[in-house]
Amino acid sequence: MARNGPRPLVAGNWKMNGTKASAAELAKIVAEAKNLSQTADILVCPPATLLASFAAAAAGTQVAIGAQDCHSESSGAHTGDISAEMLRDAGATAVILGHSERRMDHQESDAEVQAKIEAAWRAALLPIVCVGETKEERDAGATLSRIQRQMDESLPRELRGDVVIAYEPVWAIGTGVTPTVRDVAEVHALLRARLRERFGGAGDKTRILYGGSVKPDNARELMAVENVDGALVGGASLKADDFLAIVRIYSRPELVRAR
Ligand code: PEP
Repeated sequence: MARNGPRPLVAGNWKMNGTKASAAELAKIVAEAKNLSQTADILVCPPATLLASFAAAAAGTQVAIGAQDCHSESSGAHTGDISAEMLRDAGATAVILGHSERRMDHQESDAEVQAKIEAAWRAALLPIVCVGETKEERDAGATLSRIQRQMDESLPRELRGDVVIAYEPVWAIGTGVTPTVRDVAEVHALLRARLRERFGGAGDKTRILYGGSVKPDNARELMAVENVDGALVGGASLKADDFLAIVRIYSRPELVRAR
């Protein structure tokens, strides 16, 4: 049975990991991607220091390269920051925005995330916007209200380009713990409904990724959940073999439940 819904995306978030020597992992991903049936988009998001060399190594292949954050302005006096235009210039085609680690480490607000989404569109980058509840919010029964508020306040009123949403429960990131498939289905259904309400047909086409301790051994079950259109993978994306095992799930779309 074939899979319905938007074309899946499997994105690797390398976070603050990787040096020039990591080119070997990318080379493995690029080489193997050629042999996979092309039923999913593949994105690798290395640290900014590796963007240009990775983009050059992946040029013309099935593997796209993305960044992990951008500034909302295109240039100026912002020491240490990198604009969306600069990322594009380095060869990135996508950017992760509003990751919970940035929201926590850099006190990024929904309003800032929204400005960064606009910046990404301005520079022709695909924004991947992260939302997710903390453990305290889940325990307090506030998951859905938290996600809805974050989404409403992070997303611009109008879609001026494609956007990808990543549901990443904060307590599932890097912990090895994942929500139940029922919990994932509940949040993704809410996200889909809200996207439809706000953006009509474009909301149906918007990809909603699940992220948080996705590994080769749990990916199939998580990716089969309704309205899950791929994965944002942290730790497991650092090893080409593990990342490819997750991508490979979409090479046999008949194994992912049709919707
Ligand atoms: C992430 O931080 O985006 C992530 C999903 O991390 P991990 O897969 O390591 O939980």
